[in-house]
Amino acid sequence: MDHHAFHKKRGLARELAVFCAVFLLAASSLRAQLNVYFVDVGQGDAIYIEFPNGTNALIDGGSGGEPIYKFLTKKGVTKLDRVVLTHPHSDHYRGLKKVFNFFDVKSFYDTKAENINAQGDNNLRELAAAEPGCGTYFPSSGAELKWDSKVTVKVLNSCDETVQIRDNDETNNCSLVLRLYYNGAGILLMADSEATIENTITKIFKSGLQSYALKVGHHGSRYSSTGHFLSRVQPKVAIISAGVNNVYGHPHAEAIERLRAAGAKIYYTTNGTQNLHIPAPKMGVEPVLEGPLPYDPLEAAQPPAVKELIYTPEVQAPASVNTQALDQLKQTADAQ
Ligand SMILES: [Zn+2]
Repeated sequence: MDHHAFHKKRGLARELAVFCAVFLLAASSLRAQLNVYFVDVGQGDAIYIEFPNGTNALIDGGSGGEPIYKFLTKKGVTKLDRVVLTHPHSDHYRGLKKVFNFFDVKSFYDTKAENINAQGDNNLRELAAAEPGCGTYFPSSGAELKWDSKVTVKVLNSCDETVQIRDNDETNNCSLVLRLYYNGAGILLMADSEATIENTITKIFKSGLQSYALKVGHHGSRYSSTGHFLSRVQPKVAIISAGVNNVYGHPHAEAIERLRAAGAKIYYTTNGTQNLHIPAPKMGVEPVLEGPLPYDPLEAAQPPAVKELIYTPEVQAPASVNTQALDQLKQTADAQ
């Protein structure tokens, strides 16, 4: 090799080294982000989180396994460091069954509420107990979860004493409420908790509730997102996880109005999965929420169209019924 070629080669090596360093730096700063994906799973919740330290978490799984399975598979996920069931309603736990069957789950976080009207929540808890090397945890309200040394993960609500529940509101209010905090940005994940819990945590945590992003409680129900609570949270962005044309009419116009009055830009999973990225500290970059569709204030003013489902009882009596006898019965009933 002549002298000239030697120098050229050394120059190339140096260029390659610089290129690799830049690439690694870019990759590590990308990793140092906190990424929160509000996954479009139809009616229900599923929130996938990538922590700066490289670990991950899934909060709820939606009402069926397919959407969350597809999302995680597309992301190349094989292992979940934490799976959280916020409360035992099927639009939160049903999708998690497929998750336990197809992914390696390392820990399971649960609330001590037993939905005695359903069997599915018990089945899921059995799956979690049978998952090799996976522990189940019931964090208390006020607990701090050590998931990433750079991210504060605080539990703001849970039922840590076993309760047997029939009533839907009670189950919702056992929701595990989590607040993440990273690089000056808070992310408040309300699950399905309603006004009662909003009032309680407002009294306890006061201005500590202030958060850049709010995962709106109970799919934008009118019984959540009270004005007083929102005045404490002061969300810049609000994410509503609900299905198109869901039977509950979520989100309700009253909740949307209150969120708008609080100054929040509203994003819907009905538009597709919404992605929130909190950059690493000292990068001087603002948090970014990017969904498949840009925020549209006009759209935010109007909740997605609600299909009216009206129960219509059978009008005609079946042929075998003696209509004359029925008429007589009706007449005697009217006379009474
Ligand atoms: Zn729900």
